[in-house]
Amino acid sequence: MSFRLDGKNVLVTGGTRGIGRAVVLSLAQEGCNVVACYRGDAEAAARLENDLAATPGKHSVVQADVGRADQVARLLDECRARLGSLDVVVHNAGAISHVPFARLELAEWQRVLDTNLTGMYLILHGALPLMSEGGSVVAIGSKAAMVGVPLRTHYTASKAGVLGLARSLCKELGPQGIRINVIAPGIISTHAAEGLSPEQEQRYRNMTALGRLGEPEEIADVVLFLASDRSRYMSGETVHVDGGI
Ligand code: NDP
Repeated sequence: MSFRLDGKNVLVTGGTRGIGRAVVLSLAQEGCNVVACYRGDAEAAARLENDLAATPGKHSVVQADVGRADQVARLLDECRARLGSLDVVVHNAGAISHVPFARLELAEWQRVLDTNLTGMYLILHGALPLMSEGGSVVAIGSKAAMVGVPLRTHYTASKAGVLGLARSLCKELGPQGIRINVIAPGIISTHAAEGLSPEQEQRYRNMTALGRLGEPEEIADVVLFLASDRSRYMSGETVHVDGGI
């Protein structure tokens, strides 16, 4: 299926690993011009730059922490300089950790909230003025926000915030013809899943109707749909991509 995204200008946060990397490569293969950011892993960034060099289009990989206003401003300067305007924004950058609430320090709460929720505010606040009618925003939330997960109170709270922000913002953006939707992934095989023991992984598999973890490309496919006009009457929606948890 063609998503007719040829020539679209896209910003993807957290684009160098896992789901974000699959999203960047899928969009570039569809003919988009992509600016992707990452926080600190320069090797993964170099790998992505190398892979993007093989696809036509104007691409750029920029170090910028989405939780830092000054770094987001620099990232958006790059979008302006390289692309001029934006058609699609994918807020994917995410931080996670596993800590019992009783031992959850304010600094760790803040780190996760800064990336997952304040990062979304900073990115959208800066990027929306570059978008016009027909624009699409896709935020990566989490199934965890719907079901609740022990040791992840900070993470689930931030992802529930992503849903609330998107639902309200869709009403402000609708009159400008800009849509915003959220994807709630289940358990996806990324860096985040690498530390699982075989027993934990089996337990997660058993939680899904399909009996397996998801692949980053299976989230990227839904991003393509939500970024494109194929979803032109969808806004404020949350799409669960979780293998039937
Ligand atoms: P990964 O850890 O594999 O990759 C995270 C990416 O985000 C990296 O490119 C990383 O860059 C970047 N990043 C992290 N923090 C920041 C920051 N503050 N500023 C800019 N970039 C940042 O994550 P996943 O692919 O697993 O997750 C992607 C999204 O999907 C997240 O929002 C996550 O919460 C969500 N999700 C994931 C699930 C899963 O099972 N994997 C399930 C449900 C939701 P660097 O490496 O340089 O730090």
